[in-house]
Amino acid sequence: MTTGQDKLATKPYARRKSDIEWTNATWNPLVGCSLASPGCTNCYAMRQAHRIEAMGMSPAYKGLTKLVNGKPVWTGKVGRATNAAMRKPLGVRAGTVFFVNSMSDFFHPDMADAWRDEAYEIMKATPHHTYQVLTKRPEIAVEYLGRRDRFADLRNVWIGASVERAQETWRIDALRLVPAALRFLSVEPLIARIGPVIDVSGIGWVITGGESGGDARPVDLEWVREVRDVCVAEGVPFFHKQWGSWRFNPLVVRDGLTPREAARRDLDPEAKGGASLDGRLWRQMPNDLPLAPRRAAKG
Ligand code: SF4
Repeated sequence: MTTGQDKLATKPYARRKSDIEWTNATWNPLVGCSLASPGCTNCYAMRQAHRIEAMGMSPAYKGLTKLVNGKPVWTGKVGRATNAAMRKPLGVRAGTVFFVNSMSDFFHPDMADAWRDEAYEIMKATPHHTYQVLTKRPEIAVEYLGRRDRFADLRNVWIGASVERAQETWRIDALRLVPAALRFLSVEPLIARIGPVIDVSGIGWVITGGESGGDARPVDLEWVREVRDVCVAEGVPFFHKQWGSWRFNPLVVRDGLTPREAARRDLDPEAKGGASLDGRLWRQMPNDLPLAPRRAAKG
């Protein structure tokens, strides 16, 4: 099993600047998207992109969304971010774990290779950072890296696939074909059972999470347990990020606590809906890569 875990060196990392539990910071070199599957229905990025345009915060977000029945939806337009946004990691001296394209899909079919190339050149030029590129289109990552084999062996780039239901587990097979230092799964938002067993061969890290927000769809304790149990059995680091809403937290659903009581009992009340799973937090990282605040490295 090639996961790259054994080759990733532990090094000093920057203070966390993202609300996302499994990364240090976000970097959005490309913008815009369109829905890929039911996991996209309540896409946070779609709402956030609309807000950024409405507030005039970045010209790159112009025309990415429109209002339909009063709700923002993607128009399908995609593009390159501003120069400042594109070059963000070059100005960060302390080694940082960047979630790449939290606001888009790096491997959206309409993204130009030239934009991806520019972002990859920056990743290549900054080996002190670690990049987590998460996509719902791993088959396009395979094609792109087939055309750009000079980027295929970067040790600081992880490629991940989002899988929200059993119907999307084909993405795990596609991900296995992606050349990457580490391949990871984001099983979030988990909106239906994907087990009882998933094939995690070639996968070096698995994240689960329930959906958050007003229209959040429920997550079931057993669905998460099934993913965790596969990871434990196969020795794959497992990270349960959140339940998404206190309504879905097992302390409420199974143990009958009120959401307020659950928030007092959960081991991570800061996570959306808490994150305790069978009496503990599961926050394993590949090769124990530290995400906790650390002193920035000099040089
Ligand atoms: S792929 Fe990601 S950014 Fe694109 S619509 Fe789906 S959830 Fe949103």
